[in-house]
Amino acid sequence: MNLNKLKAHFDCDILINERMSNHTSYGIGGSVLAYIRPNNKNDLIKIIKMMNKKSNKAYYLGSGSNLLVNDKNINAFVITTARAIKDLKITNNIIYADSGVMLGKLVKESMKHKLTGLESLAGVPGTLGGALKMNAGAWGSEISNYLTSVEIVDAYGSVKTLKPIDLNFGYRNSSFSPKDFILSAKFKLESSSKENIKIKKAKASDGRKKTQPLKYRSAGSVFKNPCSNLAAGFLIEKSGLKGTKYGGAEISTHHANFFINHGNAKASDVAFLIRLSRKTVYERYGIMLDLELRTIGFKNNNLFPNA
Ligand SMILES: Cc1cc2nc3c(=O)[nH]c(=O)nc-3n(C[C@H](O)[C@H](O)[C@H](O)COP(=O)(O)OP(=O)(O)OC[C@H]3O[C@@H](n4cnc5c(N)ncnc54)[C@H](O)[C@@H]3O)c2cc1C
Repeated sequence: MNLNKLKAHFDCDILINERMSNHTSYGIGGSVLAYIRPNNKNDLIKIIKMMNKKSNKAYYLGSGSNLLVNDKNINAFVITTARAIKDLKITNNIIYADSGVMLGKLVKESMKHKLTGLESLAGVPGTLGGALKMNAGAWGSEISNYLTSVEIVDAYGSVKTLKPIDLNFGYRNSSFSPKDFILSAKFKLESSSKENIKIKKAKASDGRKKTQPLKYRSAGSVFKNPCSNLAAGFLIEKSGLKGTKYGGAEISTHHANFFINHGNAKASDVAFLIRLSRKTVYERYGIMLDLELRTIGFKNNNLFPNA
């Protein structure tokens, strides 16, 4: 990929040999070949088509709040719309938002228009694109609940509109192909009173503040809960691992499914705690925990069996 040509022909920011530690909530991650942030949709679509035509390895990211990136150099590009492609329009009870819109902004704007449905997601970091890919959720509500359509661009540069019926959304999971870049989405929300919406939002925000170590860098929950009435954090805590430290990383004493970075953690420190938790929980309870966070630059088979 000729980055100078890319820069000359398209409206995009390109950070060459950029450390991913600058773009992850963990503050961890080695360099990628280039971190590419197109500033408009047309150029984004063309760049994606070019990348795939030349068989370049590219990761499609949001704001890196659900990511563990290895410390080593990564022979791949990153393409993101975070903070760049971020139109948001509300007409009656229909919201249109680009994938680079931050989830917090989406929640705030829907509340301003007295629309209910998304307020439980208040405090979930990240972009709309990342939230849709992950089917982000909190306090019983998921981003896919009020979705009416999603616009994606595939590897060939074809833009498609998908309806919820075309997609499978599950617990922190969706059926978008890894080669689909999520461009935008529409939601249909219901009207409600400002007071009702505020109460629901306050419940979610207070719960988050009470239960999560928000002072520290993390990627949220490391593992998925094995089922709705069995939390991964509970199993890790009951295995005696809460507060376990390795290098600069720690299994939070506040919430055992949050592994925090004390400032100088390496990806390998977090990876060690991931392996330790999986092994210990498996030996005690016969349950193999599934990763919720996404990883880049690891040989999954070695580091995280079943990941
Ligand atoms: C303190 C904290 C609390 C959290 N609490 C919650 C919570 O309550 N509930 C919850 O669900 N999550 C939670 N998370 C995790 C995280 O915020 C969500 O998963 C979020 O939706 C990720 O968005 P992102 O833009 O940062 O995605 P990224 O981390 O950048 O990417 C996540 C995945 O989405 C893909 N992706 C991103 N953008 C696109 C795109 N445009 N097109 C195609 N694929 C894309 C990436 O390839 C990757 O696989 C928390 C994280 C933190 C740090």
